[in-house]
Amino acid sequence: MTGTIAKSRESFEPPGQPSRPLGKIALQRGIIYGPVPSRRLGLSLGINLLPTDHKLCSFNCLYCQYGWTKSVTLAPGERLKKLPSVDAVEGALETALTVLGHDHMTIDSMTICGNGEPTLYPALVEVIGAAKKLRDRYQPQARVAILSNSSTIGNPAVRAALDLLDLKIMKFDAGSEAMFRQLNHPAAPVYMGEIVAGLKQLKDCYLQSCFVHGRVTNADPDSVGMWIEKVRETHPLAVHIYSRDREPADKRIERVSLTTLQWIANEVRWRAGVQAEVF
Ligand code: SF4
Repeated sequence: MTGTIAKSRESFEPPGQPSRPLGKIALQRGIIYGPVPSRRLGLSLGINLLPTDHKLCSFNCLYCQYGWTKSVTLAPGERLKKLPSVDAVEGALETALTVLGHDHMTIDSMTICGNGEPTLYPALVEVIGAAKKLRDRYQPQARVAILSNSSTIGNPAVRAALDLLDLKIMKFDAGSEAMFRQLNHPAAPVYMGEIVAGLKQLKDCYLQSCFVHGRVTNADPDSVGMWIEKVRETHPLAVHIYSRDREPADKRIERVSLTTLQWIANEVRWRAGVQAEVF
């Protein structure tokens, strides 16, 4: 591919079983990145609404491939000034889609993700509207998607914005409040019970769930059993199951085997009656 869109070997989610561990992911340096191949999203153009000099997130997951969140927050306050305007996002996206058109390149998705939690961006609904308009004009076959950590799903305005998307992939790793705090280290006002309640109200979403061993494990039968009970309650379209692939924020966190991931997927299908796929 030519033009202003840089190719990247980074994917949106931990893929498969590598022969050796990969390093951390560098922060995205602009608003648009990729397109990058993703097993879940196909060839996907990334949209980063967040700062380019630090991760802005409401969680501090032990397995995060961007490293530690320096200041975990649900209310970015002054840091909102560092975020790009809707016009800047729309302009960067149109430029990228124009380059793709010149290169006769077809993409499968345009994915809002980037350097942290994208639903912290205050004008998400406007960005989604602009992305869908540009998608219709330049790449009508592409789905407009989001990868979110679910921390803001209790907010009806966020749910309304997410429901405008073609594809919503929502993080859900823990079936108990204690495991949620140990593994995801949320900003203080975020509770697993509220996330479950919010996910139950979100239409047609997918869950993405990361399983790890080590200092904290959510892959033992008790933890998996509690998690499946919550998956059954939220009843997503499907669950994407994976382990960490790159170097985690906490070096004592290890990936789980493919056999364990497949066992978890079978448990989801059998006990929750929900589709599950291992990535
Ligand atoms: S939600 Fe995502 S970006 Fe935020 S700390 Fe967890 S893995 Fe990292």
